[in-house]
Amino acid sequence: MSAQTEKHAVLADRLKSCDVRPTPQREVVLKVILEKRDHPTADEIFARVKAQMPTISLATVYNCLETLVTCGIVRQVNLERAPTRYCPNLHEHAHFHDESTGKIHDVDLPADLMARLHEVLPAGFDARSIDLTFRGSTGSPRPELVERRGRAKSAAN
Ligand SMILES: [Zn+2]
Repeated sequence: MSAQTEKHAVLADRLKSCDVRPTPQREVVLKVILEKRDHPTADEIFARVKAQMPTISLATVYNCLETLVTCGIVRQVNLERAPTRYCPNLHEHAHFHDESTGKIHDVDLPADLMARLHEVLPAGFDARSIDLTFRGSTGSPRPELVERRGRAKSAAN
């Protein structure tokens, strides 16, 4: 089996395991999402898919995305005032939105933390999922912030 056919079989199996009929369009959409895990928007996914399948339409890409999200292969990431992004990481994780670069990073969450979050819900509230997004920057801290934190620390002592 060539590497290409093998890849194709893996994608098809992944779709089938979720009861989704593997179509070439769905496979290529899933492929580009898995290839570059940078939480792309639908437009970005469309551009990447189009490079491999020039005849595909944006509407088809949206349909494929909806199917992949509905069956749980891909997760939607919604940020305020921003287009929806797509994430193939199905482990429990939070997102870190770097507001200076616009990039979204995955942050692993310990299982016990997720369990504790569910515990804070009132009786009878059954959460299907929890979305956690941190906002800030991933670069080195700004000098004035470091200074302020240092001052707060010495004041506390
Ligand atoms: Zn993610």
